Amino acid sequence: MEPQQRSPLLEVKGNIELKRPLAKAASRLPLSGRRLKRGPDQMEEALEPEKKRTRGLGTRVTTTHPRAAALNSAPQTQGQTAVPRAPRKSAPRYSMAVAPVLKTQKPGPVVPAQKPGTTAAPPMVGGKKPKRPAWDLKGQLCDLNAELKCYRERKQVLDQENQQLQDQLREAKQQASVLGAERRTLEEELTRVRAQAEQGQRELGNLSARVLELEERLGTQEGLVQELQQEQLRLQEERRGLAAQLGEQERRLQTSEASLSDSQAEVASLRQAAAAREAVLAEREDRLHGLEMERRRLHNQLQELKGNIRVFCRVRPVLPGESTPSPGFLQFPSGPCGPSDPPTRLSLSRSDERRGTLSGAPAAPTRHDFSFDRVFPPGSGQDEVFEEISMLVQSALDGYPVCIFAYGQTGSGKTFTMEGGPGGDPRLEGLIPRALRHLFSVAQELRGQGWTYSFVASYVEIYNETVRDLLATGARKGQGGECEIRRAGPGSEELTVTNARYVPVSCEREVEALLHLARQNRAVARTAQNERSSRSHSVFQLQISGEHAGRGLQCAAPLSLVDLAGSERLDPGLALGPGERERLRETQAINSSLSTLGLVIMALSNKESHVPYRNSKLTYLLQNSLGGSAKMLMFVNISPLEENVSESLNSLRFASKVNQCVIGTAQANKK
Ligand code: ADP
Ligand code: MG
Repeated sequence: MEPQQRSPLLEVKGNIELKRPLAKAASRLPLSGRRLKRGPDQMEEALEPEKKRTRGLGTRVTTTHPRAAALNSAPQTQGQTAVPRAPRKSAPRYSMAVAPVLKTQKPGPVVPAQKPGTTAAPPMVGGKKPKRPAWDLKGQLCDLNAELKCYRERKQVLDQENQQLQDQLREAKQQASVLGAERRTLEEELTRVRAQAEQGQRELGNLSARVLELEERLGTQEGLVQELQQEQLRLQEERRGLAAQLGEQERRLQTSEASLSDSQAEVASLRQAAAAREAVLAEREDRLHGLEMERRRLHNQLQELKGNIRVFCRVRPVLPGESTPSPGFLQFPSGPCGPSDPPTRLSLSRSDERRGTLSGAPAAPTRHDFSFDRVFPPGSGQDEVFEEISMLVQSALDGYPVCIFAYGQTGSGKTFTMEGGPGGDPRLEGLIPRALRHLFSVAQELRGQGWTYSFVASYVEIYNETVRDLLATGARKGQGGECEIRRAGPGSEELTVTNARYVPVSCEREVEALLHLARQNRAVARTAQNERSSRSHSVFQLQISGEHAGRGLQCAAPLSLVDLAGSERLDPGLALGPGERERLRETQAINSSLSTLGLVIMALSNKESHVPYRNSKLTYLLQNSLGGSAKMLMFVNISPLEENVSESLNSLRFASKVNQCVIGTAQANKK
């Protein structure tokens, strides 16, 4: 900027120094037109010397027009007489314009000088200075001198003005530098302020967000405050209610305290009474225990008096479709006390066709009388039968081994007696379910006296001297994987059957499930081998364990319920085909085991040193339930049919032999 500003000024200065026409410089300066105005006199003054000179120099006579043209057209060639290029209306106006303008820097429109060619001023013939004649060289010289003087004065003025302008320029520069510095400072300040403004803007944004957040929180807090105020009101209400209740309670408490002190006195007296009663109760408990032990002893004595081996005879009814036996075939004479006495005797009459009289009339039938501990005629129900043996079940709970057999020919009612009749009729339930139910209920009663009992059941079948588990399940079901009878441990009296299931039972339903399972197992086996069930012994055993923790007493005994194989003999008259041979082998095995049972009972009765338990699997398995302290009951089941008379007699004879045996005084298995 500075060079541009400076250049016109320097040019003016240069023009002055080079004596160029000032009008040129003036045309390039921003001068106000107003200040260029001069009066017409001054203009004339300015032009006069020229005119004079023109007039004075005869050879150089020119008009104002040519002069003006010369000023315009040859400024470079005629340096000293250069005419300003700027257009102007008249030469005098141009020359007047230069000097005063330089006093100010104010730019303004330049008044263009009149072009000599276009607006040539008329010669001032009628003015103050008339045109000198061409010959008046002196006058012209004088005019020129005057003009020169005038220029010199003007130059002086212009120098002064130049000086002033330079001063102003310096001042302006100083101001410019000051202003520049100030501007930089201000720019820096502006930058800083902008940064601050941006920072402020950001902070403002943050603060606005914060304000929003706080307003939101305020809203929430206000809501909470309202809720709390409501809660407070509710609590105050509640407190008033509670205070009222408290007052009421306090009143009641006072009343209660009064009655409490009465009650305490009463409690003290009751405690004394309770202590006295407890002492009495303990004494009674002791007495009760003593009585229970006494009961057990007396019960056992009673059983012993009844005989450790007892034989009951049961005659099944004639079934539908069977021929009714002739009257008097079977008789049940009453006891010594008359018909009210339970029958103990049975009389069977057999007509021997081979023994005819000489007259050819049939011989009188032979009567066979038998006497047993009890005889059950065909009409006897299952409950009646069980009543007689429930005492034995009690003995088992008291710790005495008990063994109940059902002996008789096939179809005589052994299974009916032991397990029950078909159809699940509760009245037809056999000894096994009844005995178990009785055991569980008595065990429950004894719990009140401190005894706890546990029962473990097993059910096996002995067929042809092989033992098979009737409680087998899954893959072993019905297959009858062979089992062995072993001692539970070295030196142990207890026997166990290998591969057989021993199932803990505690209720009737569990026992029913086991009997059902055994029936299924037998049914599966029956398809494989015809009527095998009647050709095998079924042994249901329940191991009973009792404990009186309070007195440190324990008792354990097995209860065995045995449905023996059919005792019928093989008809010697039958031809021995392949099937019969197998049948013969079965029968021999059965006969052998049944006779071993008889021999074992005899040996025990005779107190022989050797008891042949090992002679059959049955006696070996039951050895702990026979002899010694054991109680044995044999049911001899009889068919009511005349056609079975021979087998019935065999059974009755066997049973009579057993009935004659007395096994020594039983001892409870107390530990
Ligand atoms: P076993 O087991 O001795 O071969 P069962 O018990 O199978 O004989 O009895 C043969 C048939 O006689 C069965 O149909 C059975 O229901 C029936 N029976 C046996 N005893 C009685 C009885 N006391 N009352 C009614 N029916 C009986
Ligand atoms: Mg049977």
